[in-house]
Amino acid sequence: MQHLGYEVIPVFFEAAYIFPNKALKVAEENGLELLVRDISQKHLEMLRNPKRGYGKNLNPCIDCHSLMIQEAAMMLPELNVDFIITGEVLGQRPMSQNLDSLKAIDKMSGAGDLVIRPLSQKLLPDTRPIREGWINKEQMLDISGRGRSRQLQLAEQFGISHLQPAGGCLLTDHNYSMRLGDLMIHNQDKLEDVRLLYWGRHFRLSEEIKLIVGRNATDNAGLESENYPGLYLKIRDVEGPLALLTVKEPPAEILELAASIVLFYSRKASSPGYIKYGVDKKFNNEIKVEKCPENIIRSYLISS
Ligand code: SF4
Repeated sequence: MQHLGYEVIPVFFEAAYIFPNKALKVAEENGLELLVRDISQKHLEMLRNPKRGYGKNLNPCIDCHSLMIQEAAMMLPELNVDFIITGEVLGQRPMSQNLDSLKAIDKMSGAGDLVIRPLSQKLLPDTRPIREGWINKEQMLDISGRGRSRQLQLAEQFGISHLQPAGGCLLTDHNYSMRLGDLMIHNQDKLEDVRLLYWGRHFRLSEEIKLIVGRNATDNAGLESENYPGLYLKIRDVEGPLALLTVKEPPAEILELAASIVLFYSRKASSPGYIKYGVDKKFNNEIKVEKCPENIIRSYLISS
């Protein structure tokens, strides 16, 4: 669209499981200033009850596209622009980009008449930008289907740096969906709890309480950065994972179980061994426990 002379403002909609990092990198490589809007809360509300349901996992792709178009529509006055362009391709995804789905997306968003899909627009119903002559339909394309060769050719022709085509966001991942589903079943799918799902191994220790154990330094740093109002734990005498219980004052038996699981995840730690714990990441208490047997740990694990 830029090559056709239109001014384009690229926007990325971020959520607790949709991250802008790669898009920001590619935008920079292409000299584009990418606007990132955080719609985590709205996306989560939609995710609890998507009108058009889920894909294979907890991915509500049709409702997700619709929400993003709705959000983009609300930004039009602020950005002083006239219509919305998306990169959707007819038939690219079996669930969310067939003709019926695109029509549903347009209807649900309430802004479909302002949407142009340049890669497939010749195959789609005319919308206002075409009817009003803001854009010339003849300059639009007729790409359809799952193949990407024409898109890749175009990228080469225009010298566009791009990522390799890949799957969707974390909601299309089976393990992630298991962890998210567990939160939903337990009515704990608040944003701060959903944010934790990205880090570590997740254990359900009771109806109310979860334990999260970092798998590596990145997880440990991530868990630390979340500043969750729970109880943080770590091994006292050797290096080991950072862990988080999702309540500040767990019952004694849950604390002991959690500590024994944390101790298990250090080869260097002897058993029995000491676990330090405390709120606000002040590790001013300690408990002595045996390492939890692996078969018991497995019974609490929500997903691998
Ligand atoms: S894969 Fe994720 S980001 Fe993409 S449409 Fe589906 S739910 Fe939305």
